[in-house]
Amino acid sequence: MNDIPARQNEHANLMQLRPMLTQDELLSEISRLRRERNAVILAHNYQRPEVQAIADYVGDSLGLSRQAARTDADVIVFAGVHFMAETAAILNPEKTVLLPDLRAGCSLADTLTAQDVRDWKARHPDGLVVVYVNTTADVKAEADYCVTSGNAVQIVQSLPQGVPVLFAPDRFLAAHVERQTGRTLDIWQGACHVHEAILPAHVDAARALHPDAELLIHPECGCSSHVLQEFPDLRLHSTESMVTHARESSAASFVVVTELGMVTRLERDVPGKTFVPVNRTACCEYMKMITLENVYESLRDLSGRVTVPHDTALRALLPIERMLAIG
Ligand code: SF4
Repeated sequence: MNDIPARQNEHANLMQLRPMLTQDELLSEISRLRRERNAVILAHNYQRPEVQAIADYVGDSLGLSRQAARTDADVIVFAGVHFMAETAAILNPEKTVLLPDLRAGCSLADTLTAQDVRDWKARHPDGLVVVYVNTTADVKAEADYCVTSGNAVQIVQSLPQGVPVLFAPDRFLAAHVERQTGRTLDIWQGACHVHEAILPAHVDAARALHPDAELLIHPECGCSSHVLQEFPDLRLHSTESMVTHARESSAASFVVVTELGMVTRLERDVPGKTFVPVNRTACCEYMKMITLENVYESLRDLSGRVTVPHDTALRALLPIERMLAIG
């Protein structure tokens, strides 16, 4: 018997019982649930403005991992993407880690599997594997070091000379590390679809419109090598270092060359200065899957739990701890 009409009726009844909350109601429910559950909300710099606004901490992957490592909350709501929630779960196996939308993945993390790393290592048995934090827990478990854009240069510099370094998965960040360290790396040819699509032409157009603005460029961007040919002394910035630099710089305006959400963070933390996104289409749809509604539902139902198998977590912990120790 076809029971679809019955299910549709049931759904309609439920919707009547559970009317949509207004934004004010959502905010007040999130505050109440956060208190009751002893929860902390950690949000990445690329999150929607309204999600950044409710977070206990907003930052980059390194800052968020550090917050996750030191929190005494029982529940961590991760307003970010899946690999970030996995990292929090590895650092806090006894806590409940929630990702409000489990579909929030990462195109860069998807370019590399644990089997890819094992095959790569088999070809370079004496090599050290350095992976960007934007990788799955399975991949981290195969690595010697984990890095963020904020400490990749320092970590590669600290490695013994003469040992092959297998760097994955972002080829633009790898090129930046090669330039800064003078070291030749064996590079996995991955990229993030958002940063890869930021082209030199976008930077040129933004500079023409805002000739006095300083450039804040993330090393993952597809335009970074091209821009450095023109401005070899230009410093590239992790998202955290963009905030510090914008505060300290004498410039009054900046073109922000990374994902769009970073403009929200800069406007909030560096008031009085102007921040222009390089390209309004530089928007990560995975990051934007997290909304006030699904943060509320996740806190209410403890849904979207992210866990990592014990054995994988144990092996991934060492490279993550190395990442947290430096930078
Ligand atoms: S912006 Fe790129 S690297 Fe960051 S989460 Fe989105 S797809 Fe991944």
